[in-house]
Amino acid sequence: MKFNVNYYQKEMTCHFCKKLYKTYKARPNRCKIIKEDTDFMPIYKDLNPLLYEVAVCPHCGYAYHHSMTRTYGPFLLIIEQLYIEELQFKPDLCAERTIDDALMSYKLAYLVAKAAMEEPLLLGNFALKMAWLYRLQNNTRQELHYLKAAREFYSQSFAKNKEGEERIKYLHAELSLRIGDIDEARKGFSRILGDRNISNKYRKYARNRWEDYRHDYKEQEGEKDGISI
Ligand SMILES: [Zn+2]
Repeated sequence: MKFNVNYYQKEMTCHFCKKLYKTYKARPNRCKIIKEDTDFMPIYKDLNPLLYEVAVCPHCGYAYHHSMTRTYGPFLLIIEQLYIEELQFKPDLCAERTIDDALMSYKLAYLVAKAAMEEPLLLGNFALKMAWLYRLQNNTRQELHYLKAAREFYSQSFAKNKEGEERIKYLHAELSLRIGDIDEARKGFSRILGDRNISNKYRKYARNRWEDYRHDYKEQEGEKDGISI
């Protein structure tokens, strides 16, 4: 590869077949966050590093994300039976990626994680990232599908620390709001706001989000009734 201002090639050793390969990663100094959505989706000015988070081995098709933990010994045997042997093709996702390529890489990583029985929290994070990629494509139907899947995984998830627990509680309420389950969103946000042990950070997120939602909802209802200008 010639020098590329946007990408560098990271050398990987495949956990499954142990072969070496190189895969593109976005250069951190080319990835500038300009804002963040209410479900923590970072919006980038130019390059989006999310597209390059999953490395896919071009030799055997094993897909790896740094958050995976079951990448050794007996888990590889299950992955071989449930994933590698079922794989119909060996995708080549080692160079510049489209959003569709990135979605493919996450779907493969999801299958590997599911085969290895990784924690629901990890599967929930993958589903949420797939929803974000569909949001970038304005594909609302698929976005909602993956937001629902993410919420389901988060409802079964446990975090290792207080910050993680609060993030799961907030995301559960936030995703409920996004998928139109308003009752569940209301319950979730009021639980956060009524819990004295929740940090100011998540209390503030929850209060702002719920107030903004109620404000927008009232405006919409007002427009329907011909009250607003
Ligand atoms: Zn491999």
